[in-house]
Amino acid sequence: MDIELLARLTWIVFIIAWGVIRFRPNMKSRKTSVAIKSRTASERFSMVVSSFGLGYIPGYWVIAGLLTDFGITNHLARFDYEPNLILTLVGFLCLFLSLRLFRLTHKALGKMWSHSLDLREGHKLVTTGIYEKVRHPMYTAFWMWAIGAAFLLPNWVAGLSGIIGFGMLYFLRVNQEEKLMLSEFGEEYEAYMKRTKRVIPSIY
Ligand code: SAH
Repeated sequence: MDIELLARLTWIVFIIAWGVIRFRPNMKSRKTSVAIKSRTASERFSMVVSSFGLGYIPGYWVIAGLLTDFGITNHLARFDYEPNLILTLVGFLCLFLSLRLFRLTHKALGKMWSHSLDLREGHKLVTTGIYEKVRHPMYTAFWMWAIGAAFLLPNWVAGLSGIIGFGMLYFLRVNQEEKLMLSEFGEEYEAYMKRTKRVIPSIY
């Protein structure tokens, strides 16, 4: 079996499935207008870095690698390492669980979801569904994406770029997001913070 090909195809299927999961929530949430935008320069910058780390860099490695027979050069190929079936399967599993979690977060968050830091008209605090377990389950899903890609893709740059890119977004955003939620929901969010962790139930 060509493990590298399996990894590339898994990554493509993952991205398509993720797009499908996001499509409807994206359309629906757009109908509710944004009341408060909290998009600082560092927030915008880290969104770009994260898109490169999770999307464009591994995407380039995956697609260019598939097209080398057609004369396309994969400039990241020099950072390849020997693929390993066990690591690939661990990556596959992480990505699969990440998709399940994305689905659950969109189901619970509904129209309150946004790509960036926003509060929508009549924004309500969601603490039900998967939000009962942790405060940032969508970020858990993104971490699982980043970690899954690191296991899946046998290339040092394409594999690790997600951890660096999303890591930057996460650490720059999470405190700001909690401040925004505290300023809007006050005691309700404080109580929610007391009974939940950020991304891993009971741990962190
Ligand atoms: N941090 C959350 C949500 C990510 S989407 C998670 O990881 O699951 C980002 C948007 O969700 C922000 O604009 C914020 O206003 C909103 N948000 C975050 N937590 C929320 C909650 N518990 N209820 C409602 N909206 C929330």
